[in-house]
Amino acid sequence: MAAGATWVGTSWKMTKTLAESVAYARALAAVDSSRWAGTQPFIIPPATALAAVRDTLGHQSQVLLGAQNAHWEDAGAWTGELSVPQVADAGARLVEIGHSERREHFGETDHTVNLKVRAALRHGVRPLVCVGESDQVFRSGGSVEHVRRQARAALAGVGDPSQVLIAYEPVWAIGAGGRSARPEDIAEVFAALRAEFGSAVEGLLYGGSVTLGNAAQTLKVPAVDGLFVGRAAWAVDDFIALLDHVSGLSA
Ligand code: PEP
Repeated sequence: MAAGATWVGTSWKMTKTLAESVAYARALAAVDSSRWAGTQPFIIPPATALAAVRDTLGHQSQVLLGAQNAHWEDAGAWTGELSVPQVADAGARLVEIGHSERREHFGETDHTVNLKVRAALRHGVRPLVCVGESDQVFRSGGSVEHVRRQARAALAGVGDPSQVLIAYEPVWAIGAGGRSARPEDIAEVFAALRAEFGSAVEGLLYGGSVTLGNAAQTLKVPAVDGLFVGRAAWAVDDFIALLDHVSGLSA
């Protein structure tokens, strides 16, 4: 990818059938991606659709493919899990790790996040590490400390984090019940992340209720290298519009 590119990606979470996933990929593949120079698009489909989306996009695609999760072991008796080699085999070049929904509902901890980050790096797959504080922590002024602790734990023992992406996703900003963050709500956390990890990791992204309407102001926050989007990019036309918009900002 181009150095200094703006990352713009979406996780589809637990949405889309195989047919819907392929239709999305087909629409994306039909766009001449040279108009997204300076932007690094990525999509994170459900694991059931990874290989089909990879094949539909084609091997030359500029769009990076990711998995929503992967286990830290390479193989074994872990019923229901997928390993990094398995998701890589299906086309994933990055893996989302530690999303707040996984931390809340599936027992993901700082320790398992760290194991998964190291597993991803062992196999040359970029970890996209999600960190973020609850509303309670935000209101008590503890955001920087909380996020820094999560990020440090995620990267513990990692000698070379140059392939790591960190997505700051305040829990209070994510999903249908979330409220959009204002630039002043997130600036301090990004300053802290930049100070500690900025030159070592591949990128610092913001996620949580990103829309076409607030993308530009979010990208103006110093140290924000990209956007990680949920709902506002689940329709392919909306994702394409966002990619066009962001690419236009840097043109
Ligand atoms: C997310 O859950 O990571 C996310 C960014 O979701 P949304 O954009 O829908 O708030």
